[in-house]
Amino acid sequence: KIAKADAKHQKLHSEKRKKDNSERKVGNEIFDKLTLETLYKLANQGYIDILNGAISTGKEANVLTGIDKNENFLAVKIYRIATSDFKKMDYYLKGDPRFNIKTKNKRKIIYSWVTKEFKNLTRLYEAGVRVPKAFTSANNVLLIEFIGDETGNPAQPVKNQPPKNPDEFFNKLLVQFKLFVNEAKLVHGDLSNYNILNFNEKPVIIDVSQSVVLDNPISRELLERDINTIVHEYRKLCVKTSFEEVWEYLDCK
Ligand code: ATP
Ligand code: MN
Repeated sequence: KIAKADAKHQKLHSEKRKKDNSERKVGNEIFDKLTLETLYKLANQGYIDILNGAISTGKEANVLTGIDKNENFLAVKIYRIATSDFKKMDYYLKGDPRFNIKTKNKRKIIYSWVTKEFKNLTRLYEAGVRVPKAFTSANNVLLIEFIGDETGNPAQPVKNQPPKNPDEFFNKLLVQFKLFVNEAKLVHGDLSNYNILNFNEKPVIIDVSQSVVLDNPISRELLERDINTIVHEYRKLCVKTSFEEVWEYLDCK
């Protein structure tokens, strides 16, 4: 249970003086006091019952599996306050008409960032894009649908698990890409095979905190970059495609 996480936190805390910095870094970064309080709150609200092991330890966030009270898996994305790139967050937030952030408070910037990922996921889901359904967000914690099998094995990013049939997979990806841009009216901004899961040979797009609305002045530049990345990666998988082909298929103004 989450109490276990607290016990771990307490243990790490008491061993503080004994251990060197590198050894306790990760634990203390994820389970700082406010993160624990946030997890308690989510537990009390019934969103999460058990917190399991880590799926991924990224630059700015840790993703863990959790289990809710109905025994369903969920993915718990926890942004670390200590190692976040506030310059980047500020850059992506300031052009977004949905957010009007004048604060220099790092915690508040992170919370806006997490809210942004939640809103983007909801908007994408409602537009019919295959993304994890977002359940809720609180402070630096985001709870989303777990993408994986019934035993709790997470689907792998395409980077680690290339599709069996790249042409077919790429076509499915293009359908999602078009819905993303034309229906949800968002640009991913970090689209690559690291942020596309291969879920039973079907793409699921993740990691949309930096995604921007088309109204954002940087959307065009990000879209071109996303197309270039995807074209480059799928050409390496022997798919015959080009920037122009994808651009035309997306049919955006
Ligand atoms: P950042 O770029 O801030 O470091 P990140 O790249 O660490 O973020 P994500 O890309 O959202 O964050 O997630 C990291 C990894 O966690 C993914 O590559 C994937 O393996 C796993 N993951 C994320 N969301 C899910 C999910 N809903 N279901 C299963 N696995 C997931
Ligand atoms: Mn990612």
